[in-house]
Amino acid sequence: MSVKSANIGYPRIGENREWKKVLELFWSDQLSEEQFETEMRELRLSHLRKQKEQKIDLIPIGDFSYYDHVLDTAVMFGLIPERFKKEENQVSLRTYFEIARGSKGKVASEMTKWFNTNYHYIVPELKNANPKLSENRLLKLYLEAKEQLGINGKPVILGPITLLSLSKGIDDQKRAELLTSLIPLYIHVFKELKDAGAEWIQIDEPILVKDVKGETINELKQVYTEFNREVPDVNFVLQTYYESIELYETIIQLPIQGIGLDFVHDEGVNLEHLKNHGFPSEKFLFAGVVDGRNIWKSDLVNQSFLLKEVLNVVQLDRLIIQPSCSLLHVPVSVEKEKELPTQIKDALAFADEKLTEVTMLTEFYNNNLSIAELEQYGHARNLLQHSEYRNVQEVKEAMENIKGYSTERSNTLNRKKVQAERFHLPVLPTTTIGSFPQSKEVRKQRLKWRKGELSDQEYEIYIQNEIKRWIDIQEELGLDVLVHGEFERTDMVEFFGEKLEGVIMTKFGWVQSYGSRCVKPPVIFGDVHCLGEMTVKETVFAQTLTDKPVKGMLTGPVTIVNWSFVRDDISRTEVLNQIALAIRKEVELLEEHEINMIQVDEAALREGLPLKEEKTEGYLNAAVHAFKLATSSVKEETQIHTHMCYSNFDDIIHAIDALDADVISIETSRSHGELISSFEKHHYNKGIGLGVYDIHSPRVPTLEELTQNIERALEVLDYHAFWVNPDCGLKTRGETETVEALKVMVEAAKAFRSKL
Ligand code: GLN
Ligand code: ZN
Repeated sequence: MSVKSANIGYPRIGENREWKKVLELFWSDQLSEEQFETEMRELRLSHLRKQKEQKIDLIPIGDFSYYDHVLDTAVMFGLIPERFKKEENQVSLRTYFEIARGSKGKVASEMTKWFNTNYHYIVPELKNANPKLSENRLLKLYLEAKEQLGINGKPVILGPITLLSLSKGIDDQKRAELLTSLIPLYIHVFKELKDAGAEWIQIDEPILVKDVKGETINELKQVYTEFNREVPDVNFVLQTYYESIELYETIIQLPIQGIGLDFVHDEGVNLEHLKNHGFPSEKFLFAGVVDGRNIWKSDLVNQSFLLKEVLNVVQLDRLIIQPSCSLLHVPVSVEKEKELPTQIKDALAFADEKLTEVTMLTEFYNNNLSIAELEQYGHARNLLQHSEYRNVQEVKEAMENIKGYSTERSNTLNRKKVQAERFHLPVLPTTTIGSFPQSKEVRKQRLKWRKGELSDQEYEIYIQNEIKRWIDIQEELGLDVLVHGEFERTDMVEFFGEKLEGVIMTKFGWVQSYGSRCVKPPVIFGDVHCLGEMTVKETVFAQTLTDKPVKGMLTGPVTIVNWSFVRDDISRTEVLNQIALAIRKEVELLEEHEINMIQVDEAALREGLPLKEEKTEGYLNAAVHAFKLATSSVKEETQIHTHMCYSNFDDIIHAIDALDADVISIETSRSHGELISSFEKHHYNKGIGLGVYDIHSPRVPTLEELTQNIERALEVLDYHAFWVNPDCGLKTRGETETVEALKVMVEAAKAFRSKL
């Protein structure tokens, strides 16, 4: 009797982001298709080899993708948006990338967030879909692993229910039809895999952790009964992650052989289900006990206790130990981090180290490892725990006294009056969201400075010149509220990560965000506080150059937390509050230096929404509280701005209102109508800057478009409250197009003013 180990998915990007490089070379025609395939194969095989060396029993196959696994699944079943359809059955590599990235005259498919992670998938478009198998991609990959490495892998596929739920362009009836036509295609794939020797197939159905409707139960029964009937001699594991499952009792009764549950991000609910409703003795439990979404070493002793409870219900030889989800969300290997302080580095576990943990727990249950060895492993965790990083007296005291910090400002309308007198802005004031183009030159100078080729002083002067140049441009354009341009920042979160104590940047801690784009989240490892100013220098310098107000520019606590790896020894809310207090201090410093407009960006507030509806309120309350903690200690005359890069507000408008920011700027140019109506319905009474043009494209908008956008907004919103600004920061744009676009924007605003 032995316990086995498994993995759900391995990072695609490679230790040195080789994957990204190969993709981008191919896209820029510097690699032939054959070279591309060869490079990718090598990478794919090296990942499999690593997992084999780690002694993982069930190694996932097909999780490796050239772009995105949802797109892989859609393409495999011929679910191609109409504009990309070709005659032939097989979908070429070119078409595959065109769907993801667009091509001349054809817009790419939409991309959206994968559950509550920072990974983005390509949304399948199912209007007029006509499923047919283009190629059994999994079979090819299964055979490759077997022939090349002798691995009898576990093919992984996105299940039909999740696939349909994440797609767009179909109603309920069409959904039922499509499901019916997809089932035989899945079965075809499974049969071929079985014939080739596959023993286990992983079917991902993460949608089952969301609030599923009754109809889903019927779909589940229909799908899995047919799979099992048609392919009886293969083992299916129905894999879920990111939360506890709904419908536990139904799911465990499905005719499948294994069920994968997340025991890390379920807040104990999956274990409760197990204890309360048992687990069928003939089935295998794939227990996700190593956190696949965070980067800390597991407390293996603790996880062994958890597994012990699982084993009260599940037999030893029916238990398979694995990470809580695909390791896609964590970087590849800690080994490459040579520059981190040892106390931090030793407490980290990236994908490779997580697989070691899976193996250790497995060995423990197979009596090859003692509890003392598990304890020993946890030593580094304890060291960090008791280090001075996590025991900063000042932060501890502040946290104990958190209720003593004010979070309320005076009456909104009073503030409005005082601020109007203070700033004397015209109606429809014009401004921007913060960043101006980060030219190659800016990046080059920063790199030189990082490498020590430029002294602090030289770099500072360079940044100052850039600020000065752009203050002049803004004056020239006639903008009403100016910004310094964020030239000193690579990224809005990384910048604060580098300034704040208790937060550190890794060197190679990249994770895939979408396509070839990778991000390197800061690591919040200790008590967060701030020793000096973070943004005062540049902001104050900018303000000395102009009589117009310069907006201070900060990233909000919620966004910092949502885009970072967060310590797991205290609650997220506590981390949030620590950061909020650090930002509060910066807000106060700016104010002391007579910066009276301060924008606190919360680009990621929406992203953090929990998967379960019942948890939404708790999350939003904590988020609102943190934002107010950061922004409410200022005088009445100080105007707090915030910015959010999305346009879907209906369900969170009450929270947005509760932030009590004097002015909010939001992205709208891609979905105007709905957004305005949420604000209108809610009787929102503070300043709103609706993005009047889309910054994601280099195209310079015309005066007519801008006029129309403003007009539409003014039909429902009070013009006294309305601000005119682009959708988001301009850092990715070129200088010429930026200046041109802003010129048109200012012109449109002025034309309106003269009519009012
Ligand atoms: N102030 C930031 C900028 O202008 C905001 C970016 C964002 O919202 N993503 O770049
Ligand atoms: Zn934005």
